[in-house]
Amino acid sequence: MTSNKEIIAKSESAFIGTYARFSAAMVKGSGCRLQDADGKEYLDFLSGIAVCSLGHCHPEVTKAICDQARTLVHVSNLFHTIPQTELAACLIEHSFADRVFLANSGAEANEAAIKLARKHSSPGRYEIISLEGSFHGRTLATIAATGQPKFQLGFEPMPTGFKSAPFGDIAALSAMINETTCAIMVEPLQGESGVRPLSREYLKAIRDLCNKHDLLLIFDEVQVGMGRTGSLFAYQQLGVTPDIMSLAKALGNGLPLGAILTTKGIAASFTPGTHASTFGGNPVSCAAGLAVMKIMLDQGFMNSVLSRGHYLSATLQAVAQDFPTLATGSRGTGLIQALVLTEKGIKNGSEIINALFQRGLLANFAGNAVLRFIPPLIVTEAEIDEMRTTLDSVLSVFQ
Ligand code: PLP
Repeated sequence: MTSNKEIIAKSESAFIGTYARFSAAMVKGSGCRLQDADGKEYLDFLSGIAVCSLGHCHPEVTKAICDQARTLVHVSNLFHTIPQTELAACLIEHSFADRVFLANSGAEANEAAIKLARKHSSPGRYEIISLEGSFHGRTLATIAATGQPKFQLGFEPMPTGFKSAPFGDIAALSAMINETTCAIMVEPLQGESGVRPLSREYLKAIRDLCNKHDLLLIFDEVQVGMGRTGSLFAYQQLGVTPDIMSLAKALGNGLPLGAILTTKGIAASFTPGTHASTFGGNPVSCAAGLAVMKIMLDQGFMNSVLSRGHYLSATLQAVAQDFPTLATGSRGTGLIQALVLTEKGIKNGSEIINALFQRGLLANFAGNAVLRFIPPLIVTEAEIDEMRTTLDSVLSVFQ
């Protein structure tokens, strides 16, 4: 199995068809570059969907993984281990939280957040209100929490106790709260539905609603946490603190790792036997997570994310000005940025992404509305310029 063609043929005859994949089998990566089985190189502005935020095969993360894999790989949560204890302590030291639960993915972290919110509010209060356009994962509870009916279609009946409020409408959200509501769950910036930031004022009003009605505020920072917006956690630059926060994706830079963070008082509702995960807090994943945290906490790292974010945003703004028939502007925070498309751009969105892929640039068409750019946080200005050259050449074909 050496070529794209061979690998893809074998893969397509083996897997349940849940994924519409690009026609490449990736074989190696370094920094912001990937290489496929035919030897073609790609500039990666997707990062495995906001996962490889330190770039592919970051040497320090790879070393931490290899060292841990030689030492201890798994013992289950019947025992304490050093990597998970250190990772939890580090997350606590640098966040609002004083307790952590470790999982393996974003959906699993959100499941834990939902269960914790319900357990903390039981008996009687169980309903979670999320926002339209949200994305919280693919398990049954997290698709029920996801405010996009297309993810629920065919999987009915949905678990009860979830509803979604119209995006941006605080009065509608307020009107949906009733005596069974226990939490409001939001992404500080909706990634999947087209890079849609929630304003500080909106988030503050949601926090106020939670305080008024004694509800828990859950922030899903699976996509925007871990430095993506230019602070370790998105909430830190928004002036609003959640009660529970979920993390995953970039936390392990590619190893499966998720977490919820919360306060001591709320955490007390989970007692032995109420929640668990066989692999959660796996030593190798946690060693990777700890290496990620150390690098991101280095002085200067977040400032560099912010300055590259400004550069990427200005670049996309300039692209929009050059191609007004296809794009209206850019939006985003830090290094999650989008080129907002016109109707014509939206019609061609998938084809534009495919043409970019053919020319060796990876991005995606998010929310049927924007081209989303989520490069590794170590991306350079030269790489952003290179991205623009490719984007210009593709958009000039579609304008
Ligand atoms: N929450 C958000 C905001 C996400 O973007 C995602 C994945 O894209 C998830 C949850 C689900 O994460 P996972 O695919 O790791 O289960």
